[in-house]
Amino acid sequence: MSAHFDLSKEEMKSYGYKIVDLIAEHWGNIESKKPLLKASREEMDDIFLQEAPEEGMPAEEVLNFVMKNVIADSAGMSHPKVYSFVPGPSNFISAMADGLASGFNIFSSIWMISPSAAELEIVTMNWLLKMFNFPIQKGGGIFTSGGSMANLTALATARRIKCGDDFSKAVIYLSDQAHSSNIKAIRVLGFKKEQIRVLPTDLEFRISINKLKNAIAKDKLEGLQPFCFIASAGTTNTGTVDPLDAIADICEEEEIWMHVDGAYGGAAILSEKGARELKGIERADSLTVDPHKWFYQPYEIGCLLVKDASWLSNTFSEKPEYLRDIEGNESEINFYDYGIQLTRRFRALKFYMSIKTYGLNTFKKAVSYNIDLADKVEKMLRKSKNWEIISPATLAVINFRYNPIHLDLTEKELDVLNQKISDKVMDSGEALLVTTILNKQVVLRMCLINPKTTFEDVRGTFLLCNSYAEKILSEGK
Ligand SMILES: *Cc1c(COP(=O)(O)O)cnc(C)c1O
Repeated sequence: MSAHFDLSKEEMKSYGYKIVDLIAEHWGNIESKKPLLKASREEMDDIFLQEAPEEGMPAEEVLNFVMKNVIADSAGMSHPKVYSFVPGPSNFISAMADGLASGFNIFSSIWMISPSAAELEIVTMNWLLKMFNFPIQKGGGIFTSGGSMANLTALATARRIKCGDDFSKAVIYLSDQAHSSNIKAIRVLGFKKEQIRVLPTDLEFRISINKLKNAIAKDKLEGLQPFCFIASAGTTNTGTVDPLDAIADICEEEEIWMHVDGAYGGAAILSEKGARELKGIERADSLTVDPHKWFYQPYEIGCLLVKDASWLSNTFSEKPEYLRDIEGNESEINFYDYGIQLTRRFRALKFYMSIKTYGLNTFKKAVSYNIDLADKVEKMLRKSKNWEIISPATLAVINFRYNPIHLDLTEKELDVLNQKISDKVMDSGEALLVTTILNKQVVLRMCLINPKTTFEDVRGTFLLCNSYAEKILSEGK
């Protein structure tokens, strides 16, 4: 007897409906759940650790067990009171689209196998190219698993196009606020430490143009080849956008590849305020955006856009003999030629279906709402005697700390106090609010990109922080 995985059609339907019900319930009640549940490795092992079972058990029992223990009452990164890291607000239509993509197991890589999947990636890529004012005919791009992979794909391309095979003298530049995935990518690509320049930022966390110019000049004098600068369009820490126009001027003059990491802030282009902050982004050679962050898509979907699609095929196309039958006409894109993966899931589907369903205007309103919410929080904090703004609201990110003016606390005391406030909030399970370090100070950071987050949610969290702070201070006396 051959092994098989089949359920009857009726069994599949009843099982599938249950899952849809669970997801719809989750979306309908997300506010009433906890943002996260803490658990130790031991506690998790107690529930799950076992050998792979030789014999199966009824599908429903497994599902019930998983629902009880895996997802349970935690809303995770989509909860409106998740303020830290980068929240993942997601949306229901895209979640269902992911179900379709997996359910039909669509192979999104080769035109001949799934022309509609390739076409939807072309179409949605055109939408993105237009959004960022990239050329639609010549430009192109590819969906990746996330921003990290998009950055890696970009830097591999930059190196291929600028340096060819010999990159022994190549030098790459980025700021100390650039996302860690860039350094990871540079390391994966095999650059040595001596080929990487991490440049300090100014008081507002922007790359200092003068320092960049000096570094390039010095490297050229030493016979090295400056080949790429990684600008940030919305740093993860503070939402800061590097001076993109000034950087583009330098990159043009020096013939340096300009990569913009817009994984966090790129989506802000959908709002007027954001578009002003991002001025100059259209001059990048390559641009990372990350739809599973601020384009409200479920994990995983990242995206790389480039000014000239042939740069991607020149970097990634290989023609092994087992793929010889699939070359077709050039306009029929085989996306495995544009990036690292051969077998790829159908990521374009969720992006396509959500934008078709909700319309771009819904996305634009949501992004504008997020930016305005952070501005409103800044205004509220400025009126308070207890809170100090460390980095003003920028693309929906704001950094602050508890620092009552009458107390005159030392830097060390402030660090400890703010860390403790975060610890207490996290212990309460009421909100996800952690610290970051800016200018060597421990500060609290809010990233407000969930359109479900209300001003009242934020106010409530600050009331909680105030009460914890008073308690900590009174205990310390
Ligand atoms: C999140 C982020 C990344 C990494 O993206 P992933 O999707 O997490 O891989 C890269 N750059 C910036 C600026 C980010 O905020």
